[in-house]
Amino acid sequence: MRLISSDEVYATLPIAECIDVVEAAMIGVSRGRATLPLRSIMPLGDGNAMGIMPGGLAEPHVHGIKLVSLYPENPKQGLSSHEGVILLFDTRDGRPIAAVDGASVTALRTAAASAAATRALSREDSRVLAVLGAGEQADHHLPALLAVRPFDEIRVWTRTFANAEAFAARHAACGTLVRAVDTAEKAVKGADVVVAATASPMPILMGDWLGPGQHINLVGASIASRREIDDGGVARGRYFVDTMAGARAQAGEYIDAVKAGAVAEDHIVGEIGRVYEGTLAGRLNEADITIYKSLGVAAQDLATAHEILQRLRRPT
Ligand code: NDP
Repeated sequence: MRLISSDEVYATLPIAECIDVVEAAMIGVSRGRATLPLRSIMPLGDGNAMGIMPGGLAEPHVHGIKLVSLYPENPKQGLSSHEGVILLFDTRDGRPIAAVDGASVTALRTAAASAAATRALSREDSRVLAVLGAGEQADHHLPALLAVRPFDEIRVWTRTFANAEAFAARHAACGTLVRAVDTAEKAVKGADVVVAATASPMPILMGDWLGPGQHINLVGASIASRREIDDGGVARGRYFVDTMAGARAQAGEYIDAVKAGAVAEDHIVGEIGRVYEGTLAGRLNEADITIYKSLGVAAQDLATAHEILQRLRRPT
């Protein structure tokens, strides 16, 4: 059984190449070629939890589990808020084949999933990107989104302005102007693509700010009790999800908006994998506001970890 560190993960699979891996995994999910029991979350006290995410894929033929420590305060000590491990098994004979660092794979596959959705749903002439949040997820989303759209302006907002400035400085060499702004509204208004990747439990993105043609990636809230966008925002968007079952159970803003009567239960247009395979229309016109709700699924972890294992096994 091979042990794969975060350094090996990042050195082996550039983020731009992870986008196709995740897209293919999501097509498999929507074709029913993946087994994905709902993720369970085990509270550990002090606001920490363990996420347990099993899954199996028909292609590649692997199964496994991500065990992830959800420690929101970890970044203060330079650690990921998602420390963990992905265990991969060969489904033909059940043998464990790899244990892969979970924080790096989570960071890569989540950003790659948003980039795939942005490639499929955003307008091709998108030039302005708004990033809400300036943590680990935001850091990985920047190169991933730049790989699918040639942005010429990037605005970043986070709760602590100094962190937005630090983010802009960290990414100063990305080839596009990155500007820290002091309100989320300033970042979002007039942007073509928005990514919300904050740990906020309540809306930081308001429907009133959205404009025709925008595409929104909702990344930060992965459990039913959290949300980043208000009811008006949910109602204004063509709303796509990873999996129907996962979204109905765990997409906080959708669940709340249905309860409030802001949207009907059938507001979810469908699974993003169906858009990728061409059986479901994404954007219908230039004025549509599209939303990709990323809850994150084990299929993305398993496919990414497996791709890394395959690359490491290849003779150099
Ligand atoms: P980090 O802790 O590295 O960054 C969190 C960011 O959110 C910081 O910019 C922080 O602001 C901001 N923030 C925290 N609380 C609030 C608040 N109350 N209001 C506004 N902003 C806030 O976390 P990550 O980047 O690793 O993760 C971000 C989110 O993404 C988390 O909620 C995580 O659970 C989720 N996630 C989702 C995945 C998916 O598959 N969809 C996968 C992995 C993570 P500042 O520090 O400037 O004060």
